[in-house]
Amino acid sequence: LHRAIAIDGPAASGKSTLARILSKRLGLIMVNSGAMYRAVTWKVLQLGVDANDRLAVVEALKGMELQCGVDGLSSTVAVDGVDPGDELRSEEVNANVSAVAAVPEVRECLVSLQRDYLKLGDVVMEGRDIGTVVFPETPYKIYMDADPTVREARREEVGEVDSVAARDHADSRRETAPLKIAEGAAILDTSGHTIETGVAAALEILVS
Ligand code: C5P
Repeated sequence: LHRAIAIDGPAASGKSTLARILSKRLGLIMVNSGAMYRAVTWKVLQLGVDANDRLAVVEALKGMELQCGVDGLSSTVAVDGVDPGDELRSEEVNANVSAVAAVPEVRECLVSLQRDYLKLGDVVMEGRDIGTVVFPETPYKIYMDADPTVREARREEVGEVDSVAARDHADSRRETAPLKIAEGAAILDTSGHTIETGVAAALEILVS
């Protein structure tokens, strides 16, 4: 039986940085669940489908084949055999991913693929609903947060100029699996942390 560390939190709270480091240190498969929502969104946009048209998104989803795997210890995602690469982080995807992620059929499909990763080994998975929906039974849950200004600054550093606030707003207001603190999750506010002190705090939480 394989186990999971669940990391949730708003955009740019430090989830992927922490997940990457925990993956390396503990030898866990790192799963970036946001990339899966981004991949579906990328394909929806490629097909010229309106991301806000739920029925059309569901139709598009039925027609696509998602391939989720691993490369070394990192999750990979492809749609109909194509890895969207850097296009996963385009402004267009940033602007439409929250709408696509609000569609219950999309979530149902991706949650199932996310759980399948446990067949491959122990995982550290980051997203918005990992502790609440994907692995509610895991004792290893961290909810990461940071001040909005800190998060905006981090995103600017990596060149993402979309409004993180708009995505966070949509992600926490949607009806299906909104972003919230999971039962049993420890809260880690990284505003005043460096990467090293943040990782140390996370390890402390995991062993306690
Ligand atoms: O993690 P990342 O910022 O790349 O996620 C992109 C978007 O995917 C989020 O803004 C959210 O709308 C959606 N998402 C989600 N549930 C997850 C992971 C991501 O709804 N578990």
